[in-house]
Amino acid sequence: MKAWLSKKLPSGKILCEACAHACKLDEGEYGICGVRKVEDGELKLLVYGKAAAINVDPIEKKPLFHFLPNTQVFSFGTVGCNFSCAFCQNFEISQYPKERNNHIWGKELPPQIAVEIAKRYQCRSIAYTYNEPIVWFEYSYDTAKLAKEAGLKNVYVTSGYETKKAFSYLKEVIDGMNIDLKAFSDRFYKELCGARLKPVLQAIEEAYKNGIWIEITTLFIPNQNDSEEEMRQIANFIASLDTAIPWHVSGFFPNYKMRNVSPTPPQTLLKAYEIGRAEGLKFVYVGNFNAPEYETTYCPTCNFPVIERRGHIGSEVENHLRDGHCPNCNTFIPGVWS
Ligand code: SF4
Repeated sequence: MKAWLSKKLPSGKILCEACAHACKLDEGEYGICGVRKVEDGELKLLVYGKAAAINVDPIEKKPLFHFLPNTQVFSFGTVGCNFSCAFCQNFEISQYPKERNNHIWGKELPPQIAVEIAKRYQCRSIAYTYNEPIVWFEYSYDTAKLAKEAGLKNVYVTSGYETKKAFSYLKEVIDGMNIDLKAFSDRFYKELCGARLKPVLQAIEEAYKNGIWIEITTLFIPNQNDSEEEMRQIANFIASLDTAIPWHVSGFFPNYKMRNVSPTPPQTLLKAYEIGRAEGLKFVYVGNFNAPEYETTYCPTCNFPVIERRGHIGSEVENHLRDGHCPNCNTFIPGVWS
């Protein structure tokens, strides 16, 4: 399948226009993601229609807390990724091509079938997730377009490396995004993820400007991104865009190339919560923590608990909103509610 988000350069190389790595490739070369390759003079997407992970999940698991709460989302992803995070939770699929000599794997899942399954399972939305969806842009875009025609919403769970050009298409079909802001230092992004900070900040701004509903997630890793100063920088950046953007702070568990690092202590997450609130963020949520009060949405005007979440993520959700408004004081709570 042609990866049409690309163009031929005067040098004869092909420029991939999907993500900020901006790979310029000669015949036979693969992009950093391992799933886009120049063949017969054009860029090909090697994972079109090939899903490596498929599930029906609660939307709260993405995590998206202000987006069709208490509904199911048909979720899938492919192999490959443009990042190489040393702490990746899905490294078996995200790093699969790079670690297996460019081998590609996936079960046949054409866009039309993905939409049909989503409807059969009474999902309200489709999530492009598990690996970075921008590397399979054309597959996700075609699916999202059909999903939209069928009355479903679409969400990207992303590390935030989309180009402006990619957003010019995504804004037509993507309703919500959970974007990782993994740290606020270029060192972290370079050393641990094989990426840079600035394009991530630009992608978050671009998603917001394009009217896509966004929620931000930060996974705190001991001694890597957990200083109070860095927490403040992240919270401040989000607040500078909009204090109503939800911020999900979550804890790290030893994984992949970081098995010798300790899990994040609970007090780190509580500190991040306090700093987020002090910087003016109205909605800060603590994940992997099992404390309902930190997963509840409170009305910013009267503090009424408008959406209560208990138990394992998404297992018990009570939505008290009335048409997106607080039932106690009628304040509108920002989000996508229908
Ligand atoms: S999507 Fe892949 S090929 Fe395209 S610029 Fe990003 S890493 Fe390179």
